[in-house]
Amino acid sequence: MSEPPSDDLSFDPKTWRSPVGETGARRAVDPAPAAPAPGESSASLDPRTWVAAPAAPAAPVARPSRRPFLLLALGLLAVAAIAGVIIVVTLPRGAGDGKAGAASTADSPPPASQRRVLVVSDPAGIRGALDSVGVPPAEAAPAAAVAIARMAPGGGDITLAMTVAPAAGGMRLLALDARHDDGSGVVVKAGAGGFTAAPTAADLRTVVKVVRGEMDAYSFYSSAVSQHLTDSLISPFAQALAFDFDFQREIHQGDVFEAAFEDRVNGKGESVDVGRLLYVSMQTKDKSRALYWFQPAQGEAGWFDGNGRSTVRSLMRTPVEGARISSTFGMREHPILGFTKMHNGIDFAAPIGTPVYAAGDGIIQHAEFKDLDGNHVEILHPNGWQSIYLHLSAYAPGIVVGAHVRQGQEIGQVGTTGRSTGPHLHYEVHVDNVPVDPTSLKMDSGKALEGAALAAFIKERDRIDTLRAAQTG
Ligand SMILES: [Zn+2]
Repeated sequence: MSEPPSDDLSFDPKTWRSPVGETGARRAVDPAPAAPAPGESSASLDPRTWVAAPAAPAAPVARPSRRPFLLLALGLLAVAAIAGVIIVVTLPRGAGDGKAGAASTADSPPPASQRRVLVVSDPAGIRGALDSVGVPPAEAAPAAAVAIARMAPGGGDITLAMTVAPAAGGMRLLALDARHDDGSGVVVKAGAGGFTAAPTAADLRTVVKVVRGEMDAYSFYSSAVSQHLTDSLISPFAQALAFDFDFQREIHQGDVFEAAFEDRVNGKGESVDVGRLLYVSMQTKDKSRALYWFQPAQGEAGWFDGNGRSTVRSLMRTPVEGARISSTFGMREHPILGFTKMHNGIDFAAPIGTPVYAAGDGIIQHAEFKDLDGNHVEILHPNGWQSIYLHLSAYAPGIVVGAHVRQGQEIGQVGTTGRSTGPHLHYEVHVDNVPVDPTSLKMDSGKALEGAALAAFIKERDRIDTLRAAQTG
């Protein structure tokens, strides 16, 4: 039996370095890379360290700031240290965010008015914000009260846009617009009878964004972030293409990648939440591949090529040549230990030296000797399944941890190493980390959509292609 699956090697891009030759060439041109960041190593879980050269550009990693003016404000304007208020900034009218501007265009305030923008972390900070811009307590208290009454506590930062005008005894509050990033909040207005508040609903919509770029000399990760592909989508992107490309060896500088993904944006067009990938493609000088995410009305969602053919291929049930099954999956009398024990795999009896094949495309997770298992290989497949091969006499050339293998590629030869009664291959398949009977695996490899499902797929494919054409020219 093999140990529980380990996470120490996966489809994480941390292992996807640019080929050594690339990096070497680059270093020859640019021989002074910066020192590695503290803690940087190939084992780091920090995706920013998944680079071949320590000089990978760090700057593009940062997501575009939602409020760049706040940073500017730090250097230029007063910072209010009152409770809940983060930053105070005075903007000329019309230069601020469109959201608040739009809200106040209906009835324009007098020309002498100013718009002050603050960010607070909670509705409780509204009162302090009003105080900080000079609204006297007699106005600030009731205005804050009507605003707070319409806003639930929490919910994240609130951007306050206050329209005020100089008046005797301080600033007169004309309007207050308090919004969360999703657009929900309240608009407070001063009227003859005091302040009135009207809630605003969340204003989120889903848009499809497309990014396209070239591989740089460093890594897929740095290439992707420089094109503003969100961190959380980088692993899924590579996993989708893992059946088709070896990201460690087959992707080179200048190769072109493209991704389309859903993005939830607020009324100002700011990204509030990133959804799922809808399209991935990679073009190298040798091959190109484009995949579309699709959920059929019946059946599993997944990646399909442009003709509606699924990229998921099942694992081989018999990954060894000319073998007979000598022990089936399930409970059995253990031939060495003598007691009844669960047999988590299938044994194939075959002469020593018989080729053993990778049951499916994947990455080698383990290829080493372990006392009971002998020489063993574990392969992680792109759908998360694992296949495990025990008691090998030898490994095929190139079968090392991290190597990418194709279905049917020879990974080693039958042997009787470890605890074994004779020459055989013990073969296991784990689905969601649970051993399953390999003979029960469905053989629907590369299944193509048909009929209504294919028609629905083509509609989705064309929708994505239209959006791609509009955004990438
Ligand atoms: Zn066995």
